[in-house]
Amino acid sequence: LPRQPAAPPLLALDIGGTLIKLVYTASCGGGGAELRFAKFERRRMQECFDFVRAQGLVHRNGSTMGSSKENMALKASGGGAYKYTEDFREKLGVCLDKVDEMDSVVSGANFLLQSVPGAAFTHMNGKKSSVDISPNNLFPYLLVNIGSGVSILKVTGNRKFERVTGTHIGGGTMFGLAKLLTGCKSYDEFLQLSQKGDNFVLDLIVKDICGELVCQKQGLSTSTLASSFGKVITSKKKLTDYRPEDLASTLLSAFTYNIAQIMLEVDNISFLVASILRLRRVFFGGSYIRGHKSTMQNISYAIDFWSQSKMQAVFLQHEGYLGALGALMSYGD
Ligand code: ADP
Repeated sequence: LPRQPAAPPLLALDIGGTLIKLVYTASCGGGGAELRFAKFERRRMQECFDFVRAQGLVHRNGSTMGSSKENMALKASGGGAYKYTEDFREKLGVCLDKVDEMDSVVSGANFLLQSVPGAAFTHMNGKKSSVDISPNNLFPYLLVNIGSGVSILKVTGNRKFERVTGTHIGGGTMFGLAKLLTGCKSYDEFLQLSQKGDNFVLDLIVKDICGELVCQKQGLSTSTLASSFGKVITSKKKLTDYRPEDLASTLLSAFTYNIAQIMLEVDNISFLVASILRLRRVFFGGSYIRGHKSTMQNISYAIDFWSQSKMQAVFLQHEGYLGALGALMSYGD
C-alpha cells in the first residue's frame, strides 16, 4: 500500500459471533505500509481494547481528552459492530462506522484475489499449490464463508454479489459441540485433537450397513460415510468411553463434509448452464478453516469427489479476515 510516510495507521474491524478480527496498517520501509492482522475471542474484548491502545491505533482521538474523544470513526463490519458500539465509545473513545457484513466479505475476497499475488491456493493430496487468478476468468465465482454460521455467496463482480444460501449449523455449532463433548479449551486444541483421532470409531459407513460383499457387488465405496456419529446408537459405550481425539475427528469430518455437500448443491443450482465450460473454482473463507491442513484436505477431497473433478476448492491466505479487509477497503469509498 503506497502511503504518505507520516500517515496515521488505519484500523478496521469485523466483530462476529465468535471472534473479533482486526486489520490495520503499519509503516514499513520506503514510505509504504503493510497490512497486519490480529484476532480476539469476543468474550475477551478487553484484550482487544488493550491491544488497540498498545499498538497506538487510536492514539489520535482515542485519548480521554475533552471534545476530541469521540471524533475518530473506525470502519467495522459484523453484527457485533451494532451490539458493542457503546463499549468501543467508552473504552477507546471511538465511534464505529458500520459497513455491511456481506459487502465487506466480498470486497475482502475480491481484494485478495485481484491484488495479492499468491493469495489463492489449492490443497490436494497433501500438496499446496498456488492458483493464478486472472481478472478475466475470476467472475462469477462462489464464496463459501464459514464462520460461526455459513454463508454461500455468488460473486459476479466487484461489489456485485448475491447471498444464495447459508446455514446456522456452522463453525460455532461445531466448536460448541466440541467443547461439550471433548472438553477442549481452545479451537487450536480441538484441531490438534482431531488430528490424532479416528472418525470411523463413531461414524457409520456404508460397509457397516450393507456388508462388504454387497458394496463390492454394487460398486459402492466401502468407506463412504452413511451417518456421522451413527455407530454410537448401537453401541453400549458412554461418552467417557470415547477418546476426545476420536470425537474431535468425527465432529470435524461431519461438519466439513456437510458444508462441502451444501456448497455443491448450490453450485448445481447457480451454475447449471455454465458447468460444462470450464473447471470451476469455489473459494473458501472464514476462520473455520484456520489454515488447517486436514480441514482443507477434506473439503478439497469432497468437492473433487462429488463434482467428479469438475470443481476445485480454492483457499485464501488470511481467510478469516475477509470481512475486516473489506471494512478496511471501505475507507476509500
Ligand atoms: P464470526 O465472524 O461469526 O465470528 P469467523 O469467521 O471468525 O466467524 O469464524 C468463527 C469460527 O471459526 C468459530 O466458530 C470456530 O469454528 C472457528 N475458530 C477459529 N479460530 C478460533 C478461535 N481462536 N476461537 C474460537 N473459534 C475459532
